[in-house]
Amino acid sequence: MYRVFVVFFLTVLSWHSFAERVPRIEQQLDAVIQWPLRFPDTAQLAVWEQQLHAKSESDTWFRVQALLLLQQALVPQQKQEGFSALQTLLRQAEAMSTEAQLEVLNALLELYLHHQEFDAAVALQPQVQALLEQDVGPRLQFQLRLQLGRALKASGQLEPALQRFLQAHNEIVLLDLQGTDYRRQYLQLQLARIQSRLQNYQYAIQIVSQALDAAQAQGLDALLPELYLVRGAAAQMAYGTTDQVMADFRAATTVRDPQELGRVHMLGFNNLGAVHLHRREFEPALTYLEQGIAIAERLGNDREIHVMRFNIGYVLVLQGQTDQGLPMMEQAYAAFADKTTPGTQGIMLGHLADAYHEAGLFLQENQVLRQQRQIRDQVLAIERDRVFSELQVQFEAQEQGLRIQLLEQANALRDERLTRAQRERTLYIGLVTILLLGLTGALLAIRQVRRLNAQLDDLSKRDPLTQLLNRRALSAMGHAKGDLLVLLDVDHFKQINDRYGHERGDAVLTELAERLITAVRKDDQVLRWGGEEFLLILRGVGEHAVEDNLIKLCNALRFEPIAELEVTASGGAVLLQEGQAMQQALQQADALLYQAKAQGRSQIHYQASDGLVSVLR
Ligand code: GH3
Ligand code: MG
Ligand code: MG
Repeated sequence: MYRVFVVFFLTVLSWHSFAERVPRIEQQLDAVIQWPLRFPDTAQLAVWEQQLHAKSESDTWFRVQALLLLQQALVPQQKQEGFSALQTLLRQAEAMSTEAQLEVLNALLELYLHHQEFDAAVALQPQVQALLEQDVGPRLQFQLRLQLGRALKASGQLEPALQRFLQAHNEIVLLDLQGTDYRRQYLQLQLARIQSRLQNYQYAIQIVSQALDAAQAQGLDALLPELYLVRGAAAQMAYGTTDQVMADFRAATTVRDPQELGRVHMLGFNNLGAVHLHRREFEPALTYLEQGIAIAERLGNDREIHVMRFNIGYVLVLQGQTDQGLPMMEQAYAAFADKTTPGTQGIMLGHLADAYHEAGLFLQENQVLRQQRQIRDQVLAIERDRVFSELQVQFEAQEQGLRIQLLEQANALRDERLTRAQRERTLYIGLVTILLLGLTGALLAIRQVRRLNAQLDDLSKRDPLTQLLNRRALSAMGHAKGDLLVLLDVDHFKQINDRYGHERGDAVLTELAERLITAVRKDDQVLRWGGEEFLLILRGVGEHAVEDNLIKLCNALRFEPIAELEVTASGGAVLLQEGQAMQQALQQADALLYQAKAQGRSQIHYQASDGLVSVLR
């Protein structure tokens, strides 16, 4: 009864909140996008738009369309048109689906962020959050929470920003899309920035160091310069101008900047200059600051030009050229002060006071110091806001969980390698035996080696949890016309893990594997295709018997609870045609599975050779 209700409920829901996606294009998008550093170029988007023309009712179409409009609207002259075009698209999406709306809102948020209209971005929050409450996939959950976090952070609301980032972080574990590593790093960068702003420098350093390790291990260079920059700045605040700080800033200026915008390099040069200034190393300080100013001028970044001119002025004063240096500092401070945080203002006033002192202008020194004291009170008020240790603990717990999961994976790999090494040793002994034995002995030994070899081979092709064959085993399997491929994916498996724990999740997978093995015939194959996905290869089914087989499969899944839980799965099924490549059939099955998910789950979609799709429950 319960199940009937659930299926019915999801089906009803699907009318309103799901629209088809086109997996092939979705995957290509996921592979290209490194939000917000890299978007597909307009030409590529136009190609997808073309291909989607017949499917303008799909969520994928909205995703592509929103990206296209965003790309155009990032150009300052087209900003206004961009906003209104996205608003129009949003209204269209409202008639379509929750996910389509979120695709458009995501682009809209990016546009507000890009044009620094932070209040407008934050104003979208209630709408976005209401949509996220509905059944929305993890990519959009992650993405929109990240965007909200960025908007809140930019408008100075650090605690809610941190909360959104933590929610995004929670979603990462669920993502097995291309680009997850990048997403995680980008999020860590944001978290580190917030922790720096909250003056939790040690914590910021720790997060960035992890992200840098991961970036190197994964060969991801998109965020490297920025990560070095943030760590250097945090370490400078925490420990002063150490060699490590210098090394980080230098890395930030020398590591290739994949964005090639120069912004990070500029900041790196500025910081290097400031650090040398601190150490009274005037020559290198001036060289770096001038290099930084050159980039800032090219970028038209007035703010940074002021900061660097302030620093150059300070160097000149310290070198005794007060006539030239002081006015530079005064002008730069006047132009810059209201654009920065009280903390930075305080630091700059301190330098200005020093400079007046050097110049023997004690009256001015005194005045500036009084100003600095007033600001210090503001800074102290901000200090009080930075105690939200509870959220930090939460983040740490999540990170810990994620790390354990990764560690488990690494251990599994290492175990496999160890066993392999042991086997190889046995193999070697086997070979030595061959040499030592006479001909009869040799024949026996060869058999032994063959058996060991087969075991070794089997080991790498078997999944340790369910004992099923895995993806790697597929290539060695034969297949023929008339074989039925069924790709199954457990529904809402993530919730099972969340509610009952990872071990219970494992138990579900193990029991489900047994259930599937029992449900198929002896010659059929059941593979663990990925996390909670299984591939069934039912031999020699033929077109007329497909539906019977699928109904049998549905029944095998339906009646008994699995690991004491009501578990359902969705599937895509394809009958292999004469000469059809396995790869192509699998893609088709994947697309059908996607459809089954979108149309309410707990069902298998099968596409016959005439193109008709049947739905089996
Ligand atoms: P959907 O109905 O859309 O398929 O939702 P879902 O939650 O099943 O799908 P999603 O892909 O979001 O989540 C799959 C989860 O499966 C994420 C991952 O942590 C978990 N998982 C993957 N492998 C294992 C495993 O070996 N054991 C356990 N316990 N969980 C796993
Ligand atoms: Mg699933
Ligand atoms: Mg899955």
